[in-house]
Amino acid sequence: MTASALDLDVIVVGAGIAGASCGYHLAESRRVLVVERESQPGYHTTGRSAAFFAETYGNRTVRALCAASRGFFANPPDGFSEVPLWRRRRILHGGRADQAAAVDRLFGATRDLAADLSLVSGDAARRLFPPLRSGYAARAVVDGGAMELDVHAIHQGFLRGMRQRGGDLLCGAEVTGLRTDGDAWIVATAAGTFRAPVVVDAAGAWGDVVASAAGADLAGLTPLRRTIIVYDTEKPTDDAWSMFIDVEERFYVKPESGGLLASPCDETPSPPCDAQPEDIDVALAADRVGRATRDPVGRIRRKWAGLRTFAPDRSPVVGFDPKRPGFFWLVGQGGYGIMTAPALGRTAASLVRGAGLPADLLALGLSEKDLAPRPKGTGKPAR
Ligand SMILES: Cc1cc2nc3c(=O)[nH]c(=O)nc-3n(C[C@H](O)[C@H](O)[C@H](O)COP(=O)(O)OP(=O)(O)OC[C@H]3O[C@@H](n4cnc5c(N)ncnc54)[C@H](O)[C@@H]3O)c2cc1C
Repeated sequence: MTASALDLDVIVVGAGIAGASCGYHLAESRRVLVVERESQPGYHTTGRSAAFFAETYGNRTVRALCAASRGFFANPPDGFSEVPLWRRRRILHGGRADQAAAVDRLFGATRDLAADLSLVSGDAARRLFPPLRSGYAARAVVDGGAMELDVHAIHQGFLRGMRQRGGDLLCGAEVTGLRTDGDAWIVATAAGTFRAPVVVDAAGAWGDVVASAAGADLAGLTPLRRTIIVYDTEKPTDDAWSMFIDVEERFYVKPESGGLLASPCDETPSPPCDAQPEDIDVALAADRVGRATRDPVGRIRRKWAGLRTFAPDRSPVVGFDPKRPGFFWLVGQGGYGIMTAPALGRTAASLVRGAGLPADLLALGLSEKDLAPRPKGTGKPAR
């Protein structure tokens, strides 16, 4: 721990992608300490994602945050990473004949934000994702601007950059108590007690637990477990193929290391925990993907589960708590926390500094109100 930790401006709780990206942007102008319970940052949801980026996924607020993040992934600051942060991976949002109306609705709802969008026939979808059963898909929206992200490189880039700017990361430092002494927050952790006028809650699935310790009204966050399997196929798959997402999000599947990666898009409510895959969800993945693809699901190489944590309206919660001065929320990233991290980290840092929402987000039609804390029961419905 450096001496600067004794004289802090901001303490960030949680070193997943949210805490890392916020810490990175804040460290430009503030003395920052990120405290993480685990011995390694990224152990929970950040290390368990499917790693895709799509401006055609999630509600309108999420899609705007995604659009505002594209530039960072494509052109990161000098020295941010030695490897590219992304590569092209088209996404097909496809459906059977009885889902055609849902495909059309998605096309109508997303064409203003996603630059490279087209509506194609089922045959064309199959050319882009050949494992599809013949005749399965009636049509699909092709998101040609979608990408696959290098989550490790992005996460490490934020943490390394934060340290280069003078910030600190302290692992093995579970926050066990939060109180104020009038001017500042006193944060008790397993690795010592720290003091700063601002605390950022970037605790992912534990967001409401940390808020409760601070005496804030809860946001009503719900962690939802999602499962992923990676399996062998009869013939090796081609990495140039697209990803296929069922338009009603009942499964997705994409090439992965010569096999396929699939999820049944399960959303099982869970307490915050070290989520593990359940046999029933692994079976569901095999069943749903098996119905849509030609070859049987082969040997399962790997499986995992993680918690996607949502506010009731499925938009992130970012802003100062209305009742607990200096307590700042950065939670509710749901299934979009990697693809939106550049914009959300930048936004959180700007709001902590009192500089309001960045101009590019305002230009995309977002307002501070879209993200501001919405105590449980007071938010607007999902849109
Ligand atoms: C199966 C799956 C697929 C996904 N696919 C995608 C995708 O393709 N694209 C995408 O953009 N997003 C995806 N996501 C979502 C994305 O992974 C999350 O939105 C993002 O990782 C959330 O980051 P976070 O930093 O908020 O949470 P986390 O990574 O969980 O970090 C929170 C951290 O806070 C720490 N913490 C909690 N309580 C305390 C405490 N009291 N003291 C100290 N530390 C504490 C935890 O240990 C944890 O490390 C997916 C998620 C899952 C599960």
